[in-house]
Amino acid sequence: MSPRTLTLDDTLYAYVNDIGGREPEIGRKLREKTQSMPMAGMQIAPDQGNALAMLVELIGARRAIEVGTFTGYSALRTALALPADGELVCCDVSDEWTAIGRPFWEEAGVAGKIDLRIAPAVETLDGLIANGWTGTVDFMFIDADKSNYDAYYERALVLVRTGGLIAVDNVLWSGAVIDDSDQSADTKAIRALNKKIHSDDRVTMALLPIGDGLTLARKR
Ligand code: CA
Repeated sequence: MSPRTLTLDDTLYAYVNDIGGREPEIGRKLREKTQSMPMAGMQIAPDQGNALAMLVELIGARRAIEVGTFTGYSALRTALALPADGELVCCDVSDEWTAIGRPFWEEAGVAGKIDLRIAPAVETLDGLIANGWTGTVDFMFIDADKSNYDAYYERALVLVRTGGLIAVDNVLWSGAVIDDSDQSADTKAIRALNKKIHSDDRVTMALLPIGDGLTLARKR
């Protein structure tokens, strides 16, 4: 037994996903549909979906924003966890990918909660800020182009209310964050944001080694 986070082999990871959460059937269907596509690695894993849904429930979120929707699995899990009058703004630049998720949102009965904005997310977020959303958002999930992570994080801090939660995905970047020979723009952007959040007095934070690494930052 070790107090360290385990490295999960396939069997143990399958156990986590089988028994460690209650992925809705509709979620499984969407995930499996996405799995057959190129870029499927951009989809969050079911255990992360379980964790996101739990966080949304825990903080009693009503208004949420997702930056990076891809085929809509995290949006589906988030929307299902929101109350009936909840709302989720989804930011993505791809009509093609998000179109895959829409029928699943419909079937799950959450399409009415989801406001999908096809545009560069910075524009959408700035638009929300201009329209009076400052300090009104309970939960924000950042999982899009890494070079803009800092821009998304700064806007999240404006939009999220005190006590609200910002979740940032891929913060371990398959371990590349500690590989000094990797100086790609994406890796550098993630590394820089990790360092920034670590010493950012505006939030309390914890990096969870779930999936590809998920940082939680709670706005003070
Ligand atoms: Ca991701």
